[in-house]
Amino acid sequence: MTKWVYTFGDGTAEGTADMRDLLGGKGANLAEMCNLGLPVPPGLTITTEACNWYLGNARAYPDELAEQVNTALAHIGKVAGRDFADAKRPLLLSVRSGARASMPGMMDTVLNLGLNDESVLALAEGVGDERFAYDSYRRFIQMYSDVVMGLDHEVFEEILEDEKARFGHELDTELTADEWKQVIARYKSVIEEELGQAFPQDPQQQLWGAIGAVFSSWTNARAVTYRQLHDIPSGWGTAVNVQAMVFGNLGDGSATGVAFTRNPSTGENTLYGEFLVNAQGEDVVAGIRTPQNITEAARIEAGSDKPSLEKLMPDAFSEFLGICNRLENHYKDMQDLEFTIENGKLWMLQTRAGKRTARAGLRIAVDLAEAGMITKQEAIGRIDPASLDQLLHPTIDPSVSRDVIGSGLPASPGAATGEIVFTPDEAVEKSEAGKKVILVRVETSPEDIHGMHAAQGIVTSRGGMTSHAAVVARGMGKPCVSGAGNIRVDIRRKLLLTESGPLKEGEIITVDGSSGQVLRGSVPMLHPELSGDFGRLMEWADGSRRMKVRTNAETPADANVARKFGAEGIGLCRTEHMFFEDDRIVAMREMILAGDEEGRRTALAQLLPMQRADFVELFEIMKGLPVTIRLLDPPLHEFLPKTDEEIAEVAEAMKVEEELLRQRLEALHEFNPMLGHRGCRLAVSYPEIAEMQARAIFEAAVEAGAKTGEHVVPEIMIPLVGMMTELEYVKKHIEKVANDIMEEAGQKIDYLIGTMIELPRAAIRADVIAEAAEFFSFGTNDLTQTTFGISRDDASSFLSTYQKKGIIERDPFISLDIAGVGQLIRMAAEKGRAGRPDIKLGICGEHGGDPTSIHFCEELALDYVSCSPFRVPIARLAAAQAALKGEDA
Ligand code: ADP
Ligand code: MG
Ligand code: MG
Repeated sequence: MTKWVYTFGDGTAEGTADMRDLLGGKGANLAEMCNLGLPVPPGLTITTEACNWYLGNARAYPDELAEQVNTALAHIGKVAGRDFADAKRPLLLSVRSGARASMPGMMDTVLNLGLNDESVLALAEGVGDERFAYDSYRRFIQMYSDVVMGLDHEVFEEILEDEKARFGHELDTELTADEWKQVIARYKSVIEEELGQAFPQDPQQQLWGAIGAVFSSWTNARAVTYRQLHDIPSGWGTAVNVQAMVFGNLGDGSATGVAFTRNPSTGENTLYGEFLVNAQGEDVVAGIRTPQNITEAARIEAGSDKPSLEKLMPDAFSEFLGICNRLENHYKDMQDLEFTIENGKLWMLQTRAGKRTARAGLRIAVDLAEAGMITKQEAIGRIDPASLDQLLHPTIDPSVSRDVIGSGLPASPGAATGEIVFTPDEAVEKSEAGKKVILVRVETSPEDIHGMHAAQGIVTSRGGMTSHAAVVARGMGKPCVSGAGNIRVDIRRKLLLTESGPLKEGEIITVDGSSGQVLRGSVPMLHPELSGDFGRLMEWADGSRRMKVRTNAETPADANVARKFGAEGIGLCRTEHMFFEDDRIVAMREMILAGDEEGRRTALAQLLPMQRADFVELFEIMKGLPVTIRLLDPPLHEFLPKTDEEIAEVAEAMKVEEELLRQRLEALHEFNPMLGHRGCRLAVSYPEIAEMQARAIFEAAVEAGAKTGEHVVPEIMIPLVGMMTELEYVKKHIEKVANDIMEEAGQKIDYLIGTMIELPRAAIRADVIAEAAEFFSFGTNDLTQTTFGISRDDASSFLSTYQKKGIIERDPFISLDIAGVGQLIRMAAEKGRAGRPDIKLGICGEHGGDPTSIHFCEELALDYVSCSPFRVPIARLAAAQAALKGEDA
């Protein structure tokens, strides 16, 4: 018989932390906390397998499930001293979803399940507190109707606002039992009106309704989107946790809260959290009341006059502090905790590895390693390379004056500027139209995720550091200011109301998520310094890394940035990019459009000094590190004059009739330039182009070498080779130039000549090509295009459809198609080494900065990866992780 249900509570559990695949993260950690002897309300976890069964069998439950749940409930009842569906001593339950990975797209928790018109009386009598009982009942009706029955929660919020106004109250906590009864009566009738059915009174019906809703929520649109964004397989399913309720809303001796064992924004090793007295569940996160600080130190720092938990409930606080330390030591990581205090008694409701900013992640990993809790290798493995991107974000220049229009909490660091938008849909629309936007909301909810993704930054007028907006923004690495109490959002009139007047949709603001300020207009930004924890972890990573990391750069600015980020050379210098500037493009066009060799040589002579100066500068910056220069590659149409004005300009420079030039343009027209006269084909047709470039490179190497004293060994790369004979032909011309210059300069020049592998034929014939090539660089952009036969520039319109329809999982231009393109690379690497055992191998496509692709490169034992400057740190870390993984295997 399959075991679908695992119980926990009373100091033991059937599950453990490492059973998260089956029990989900929440269930596995609840079990683990029980095993550690921590105070956890008893409960049961229905497995993810049951979810998959349910979804795969037309939403029917497995046969044995009901019985297993009932047996487990009886056990929970015994531990809790009450019974489910017993109207006299009712056991009330929370029903909570919990997948393997924490997923905000899933069903919200239902609390107080089991209450009905009868048991609410027993609950009131049991604790002698009628207000509490009806407060719990109304919460239950509201959550259940929203989450399980699909009635929008706003309906209930409106009624509640209305009644509060009628009774003259401001806070929910001020309502009396009788007033809650009236609210409940209105809730019930609106349910009947809207749904045509009464609110279910039968606890069994309530329970199975909730369980089914959790399972079904695995396939709701929000969850599906979230999974796509985070690469979570749809086959995982979610577990359901059914747990005895404990009550944080039992008056002033009760509370509920959330905490991080370290600061999730900075990583500082201080307990960090918020709580509310006399509250339940998500009140803290929802921003209904402003929460209080847990520690006295945090209260003082925040300048809050509301007492801390430390002062208010010292016993529960010190027990909680002990548990925090215990859990951190046990899991060896910063934990995110949820707890409730019922009449002074502390209950733990959740623990998990806390979400954190990249900065905090680094600091925590480094601190834990230095404290000896984890090894340096483990610290390296803790950081998601992609998250480093956040640290490379700009911050506001501290020397400029700030026009502050609002301030709130520094919820997620970094700064961003953009136009104000008030709805997630507008955020998406405008950003698709190429605009940068800041999403301004009262508060955010999981329905807003797409808008948060599209926005550069987020501002909310309500909510704390653990509000939805704050948590999600930190996860996304977007600047966020939450709870900016001195601004108001008027959605209807699309206005942001500030103390210094209203701002309209479309006006520019800047969010400073590090200080919690919202500024008018745009502000100068600074680029980050990469020292401290970042530097330390990178040092450790470099110590574990085997592959070198180079950068793709052709401008001095890019080369400098890349050096600062630790690049160990240039893996790809695209020479054509050097010809786009004003004075150069005309000479370039002259060269392309020249009718004969002489015309080309005249134009090339103009380009030579510019090209040489560029290389000298690059060589100087790279101080003897390897620099791979690719000869002219592009489809020439990219350079051809298009407008009448451009044509006239070139005609004049070439001293030819415009008409003649137009004829020449016509003759150069290609139907498929990407597969046309480009790459080494240009050098085969017009060797003088390759000769000019080679001359510029060698002369620059001599000049830069003399200037810096560092020996420069240029690596000349011939693009788009499919046949060894092409390579040999071009190579001969380059060697001739090298010999000429050695003679002229009277000194020996060291250099390498190699090729890109970017055509399937080159991969197939790699052994033969290697005889003429001293290095291969895998040009995976073109190799992906030519292997798939998909033009990258035209792919976006149909590749996204492919992804939606599940035909491909990932865009092969972003993450290397290991099964296809990867196999060509593997073959080329093997054959290349067969043809020339000491051949140098690297990768220089976009994939050189993609962690998954980097792992594959390590598997093939490539010598280096090369990526854009801002991805260099990411590649350094990913290469270290890949090397460490190789050691494990
Ligand atoms: P989420 O995954 O959104 O955090 P949870 O299942 O953790 O959802 O539930 C949210 C909140 O509901 C918890 O933080 C806690 O305050 C409250 N809650 C959940 N289970 C219980 C329970 N057994 N007793 C009291 N409150 C609970
Ligand atoms: Mg939730
Ligand atoms: Mg939770």
